[in-house]
Amino acid sequence: MSFDVDLFVIGGGSGGVRAARTAAATGATVALAEDSRLGGTCVIRGCVPKKLMVFASEFRDMAGLAREYGWSAEVGNFNWTDFRTKLDGELDRLEGVYRRLLDNSGVTIHDARARLSGPNEVTLDTGQTISAGHILIATGGRPVKPDMPNAALGMVSDDIFKLDSLPESILIVGGGYIASEFACILNGLGVKVTQFYRGAQILRGFDDEARGLVAEMMQEQGVDLKLGTDIVDMWPADQGDSPKAMGARPDDRAPDTATGPGPVIVKASNGTEQRFDRLLFATGRTPNSSDLGLDDLGIKIDRRGAIEVDEYSQTAVPSVYAIGDVTDRIQLTPVAIREGMAFTETVFKNNPTAVDHENVASAVFTQPELGSVGLSEEQAREREEIEVYSTSFRPMRTAFADKPARVLMKLVVSKASRKVLGCQIVAEAAGELIQMVGIAVKAGLTKEDFDRTVAVHPTMSEELVTMQEPTRTA
Ligand code: NDP
Repeated sequence: MSFDVDLFVIGGGSGGVRAARTAAATGATVALAEDSRLGGTCVIRGCVPKKLMVFASEFRDMAGLAREYGWSAEVGNFNWTDFRTKLDGELDRLEGVYRRLLDNSGVTIHDARARLSGPNEVTLDTGQTISAGHILIATGGRPVKPDMPNAALGMVSDDIFKLDSLPESILIVGGGYIASEFACILNGLGVKVTQFYRGAQILRGFDDEARGLVAEMMQEQGVDLKLGTDIVDMWPADQGDSPKAMGARPDDRAPDTATGPGPVIVKASNGTEQRFDRLLFATGRTPNSSDLGLDDLGIKIDRRGAIEVDEYSQTAVPSVYAIGDVTDRIQLTPVAIREGMAFTETVFKNNPTAVDHENVASAVFTQPELGSVGLSEEQAREREEIEVYSTSFRPMRTAFADKPARVLMKLVVSKASRKVLGCQIVAEAAGELIQMVGIAVKAGLTKEDFDRTVAVHPTMSEELVTMQEPTRTA
């Protein structure tokens, strides 16, 4: 049976683009549909603009530090408009790079929304129907607001990059990656940040000691972190002290422009009532699996909305595969890219390749950053007897300037196999450091392998190869 194309990819984010390019490189004919901007969440409204904002926010304290080192230095005010103009230009450039990469690979791009109209057919919102030997769903995810009245008064992370001006104050709700990263970024840019997290400590799932230190350092730098706190009620600030019934129910989708919701008064579970110029919900993301025609084909979705796939990313319909955040395995760009490459190996290179989701390193770009790979102390303890090697200290660079910043270097080691099961780093540039340690942990190296490695001196990370005695065993 002949098809219009060998592969049709729905979604032009990190995973979809990589799968399309690698499949096309095998000689397959490939088409891709994207109804928004090429590059997807990571490039357009996630990792890339976020990291540039991290860089921007870090300059606030640099002049102070430089002065401690003998420089006469001043940092004036941050100009959001200048930064945003530059940022928009950079994102346009990157989107162009993605388009060129696809063009140069011979992939046909459809700037349209696609939905499955058969196991081997997609229909575009232009009305065009295209048949394909295989269909790959790589539609990603989107931020969600909590299910509460007046949720429309809050923004989601997508909206931050579209702000016309920075607010004077913001309430951030959530304690995950996005909430904690934006709390640090906006605090660094001079916004008065309050963060509500409903649980006992932010960054649930990460090592307790590591997230505890991140939270402490965030508070030290001025983030007003309220743990065990949630919104009880909220209303537009222009309605004054007493809320009028708005009857609004949450709107799952981000508002079209961030200039929509304005100042808000929030009544919190800790009894306070406070006005904020803006409210940001960073309360998780949901897979973009609706309105794709999946039900009609019998493609299963779990209760979180994730498309169910096997280890080769194949759905219940053999010709249809899904990768990346829409499958909600690990919501990280490099994982989606790996899944895309494994898909090409499996389908177009006759080399069935399952994606290995074990020991994926990641970094939370808070200030300081949290880099992590493998098991936390708590997770490891559940599995076997362990030794913990942990040290927390004031790093040389900021200690010289008498700053209170502290870092953490931590290894979790199996007593039986001596393998390093996990590593946690809380420090400036922890994201860079954990990439390297990730190789050692992935390779299954032992504590003795770490010990045999001669330290690089003077660095923070030399502690990872010089810790002699376990801090505790469990
Ligand atoms: P997370 O799932 O990490 O965090 C969501 C947070 O919102 C949690 O603290 C959760 O609390 C809280 N929450 C959920 N529902 C409610 C509610 N109704 N009311 C109050 N609080 C609520 O999601 P994020 O949106 O931060 O990030 C999504 C994913 O994107 C991450 O898991 C990560 O994989 C990826 N990401 C990665 C980054 C990186 O690599 N640096 C950066 C940004 C995102 P609780 O803990 O109690 O459930």
